[in-house]
Amino acid sequence: MKMIDSFNFKGLKAIVRVDFNVPLDKQTREVTDDTRIRGALKTIKKIIGDGGSAILMSHLGRPDGVMEKYSLKPVLPVLEKYLGVSVAFAPDALGDEAVAMARDIKPGEVMMLENVRFYPEEEGKPKLPETATDEEKKAAKAELKARQKKMAEKLSTYADIYVNDAFGTAHRAHATTAVIAGFFPEEKRMFGFLINSELAAMDKVLSSAQKPFTAVMGGAKVSDKILIIENLLDRVDNLIIGGGMTYTFIKAQGGRIGNSLCEEDKLDIARDIIEKAKEKGVSLLFPTDGINADKFDAAADTYVSAIDDVKDGWMGLDIGPGSIALFEKVIMESKTILWNGPMGVFEMDKFSAGTTAIARAVAKATEQGAFSLIGGGDSVAAINKNGLADRVSYVSTGGGAMLEYMEGKKLPGITAIRGE
Ligand code: AMP
Repeated sequence: MKMIDSFNFKGLKAIVRVDFNVPLDKQTREVTDDTRIRGALKTIKKIIGDGGSAILMSHLGRPDGVMEKYSLKPVLPVLEKYLGVSVAFAPDALGDEAVAMARDIKPGEVMMLENVRFYPEEEGKPKLPETATDEEKKAAKAELKARQKKMAEKLSTYADIYVNDAFGTAHRAHATTAVIAGFFPEEKRMFGFLINSELAAMDKVLSSAQKPFTAVMGGAKVSDKILIIENLLDRVDNLIIGGGMTYTFIKAQGGRIGNSLCEEDKLDIARDIIEKAKEKGVSLLFPTDGINADKFDAAADTYVSAIDDVKDGWMGLDIGPGSIALFEKVIMESKTILWNGPMGVFEMDKFSAGTTAIARAVAKATEQGAFSLIGGGDSVAAINKNGLADRVSYVSTGGGAMLEYMEGKKLPGITAIRGE
């Protein structure tokens, strides 16, 4: 594996998997948030700045075959504005025109392929009717996987070098995110700057965290976070639990939770996590109080109670002032902080105070020298909403990919390059 910063692309063509899966305005089809485009600029600029050429490929949305509304064309003007060069567009990633354009591309030039997910080969998951037998499913999968390999092989002929900079899809074993890497020798494949910085931030937290290390886990469900919590129990000093998943833990300990969110089938797992934390000497912190609502509504009536004493018919939708004070104190004393998931239903102002307080505490601790990593769509949204993105150490761009890496899983897009 080569490192992009010390590689010279002069005279070479690089095929680059980027993540331009950006939101588009339904009416105007303009890009409404260009964060992901900006995330890939450093890599593209490095390639063309060296005198190489860049052939970009990405997916957008979940199209079923060729669908104009999932075209990558709206990305072009934004990309051209940031790069200051014109970007050629190949309307079919595997078509003759794309082949010719890639063949003729000159040093310093950039071209982009149309949505690679217009081909089912990209994902390699056949869509079959429910009535299909296991045999049929197996055969269809094997056939599509063979075509996936062909797609990856064809794309590999467009360029000399493969660069993967699409962290958001690194947990997928798709043609352009993983399979294609196998068609390039080790010295001709590498990560782009974005993936490198994502990996550096996550490895810093997983392998060389300064202590005390505090993980703040929130969000709706325990079931989504079990694996990451288990992996973190071997590493953290403090584990703060907030958000809807709190109540499964509270109920597991015999508390009254009213109508609060609860996964009845995860009560044993919750007890198991509490037990394991004890064994490993991890300080497991739950909210002490919560803000309860009479309905799931921005205009609900509310009252504050102890976290384990929610009246029948009421539901806890945010952490209370006592919990905020407790969590702030622990966060401020930490040297490494990982935050994933909101403390309450932060989309409604009435239940956003807990999440905002945590966002501010993480920023403050960072200013005092802690390393902070924020991941997961909702905690990232909370950081952005509070204008704190520049005041934390690293904001991850990959929700699912980050979660899986932090769970200790191997990501296909990462291992395909590293060759593990
Ligand atoms: P996740 O995707 O698992 O990180 O969960 C994020 C979602 O959890 C957000 O949409 C929040 O509104 C929701 N959430 C957080 N706290 C609660 C709560 N106490 N009750 C219900 N939903 C919650």
